[in-house]
Amino acid sequence: MATLPPDNRPIVVSGPSGVGKGTLYNLLFQRHPETFALSVSHTTRSPRDGEQDGVHYHFVPMEHFEDLISRDGFVEHAKFSGNRYGTSKMTIEEQTKKGRVVLLDIEMEGVKQIKQSDIAARYIFISPPSLETLESRLRGRGTEKEESIVKRLAQAKNELEYSKTPGVHDIVIVNDDLEKAYKEFEDFVYKPLDA
Ligand code: ADP
Ligand code: 5GP
Repeated sequence: MATLPPDNRPIVVSGPSGVGKGTLYNLLFQRHPETFALSVSHTTRSPRDGEQDGVHYHFVPMEHFEDLISRDGFVEHAKFSGNRYGTSKMTIEEQTKKGRVVLLDIEMEGVKQIKQSDIAARYIFISPPSLETLESRLRGRGTEKEESIVKRLAQAKNELEYSKTPGVHDIVIVNDDLEKAYKEFEDFVYKPLDA
């Protein structure tokens, strides 16, 4: 049976590309089945091997994305590494209806927009042990071309800088040892309301 966290507000997870956000929340989803729902974003980037449309992302052409912007269909949207990404109002509605806790995986411009919206959320930042480790994870994942790696590493510095702004995130977790980082992540998600 699903055990919902005491605090059931949406959870916003951010952090540099390749830091291990997906690894951490997929573990959470596996270990707490039918409890969480990923907010499936729209993106103009191409799918990676194994990524499914409607599951990992809604993969859409630029015209479709721009059309959705013009119809005010997004809660937030941003450009990242040459592509566009956004959280549609429809996605948030659909996932919330499931009675699960919604988890958003978004970059920093999206975080800023959610903070200005009427969505009351909790914010988790995942940080790498070092930029060298981040680069080796990003390369090791084997999903990006060199140009994309360079852009993602440059943006990582902005993400890390923004994460230092006091009060922006409720918790910053350094993803060094995976199980240790996972424990911190899970403990935060399941924290009692009065803690
Ligand atoms: P993100 O979702 O933040 O872009 P991923 O979850 O795809 O990052 O992780 C990037 C790569 O790093 C993957 O190959 C993943 O297996 C690996 N990884 C994630 N966490 C750790 C960790 N704690 N130690 C070593 N490798 C990790
Ligand atoms: P990737 O291409 O590696 O899947 O994602 C690249 C970056 O885009 C990551 O930092 C991820 O958090 C961010 N991202 C994914 N979906 C969204 C979204 O809907 N909105 C925003 N602002 N960022 C997103």
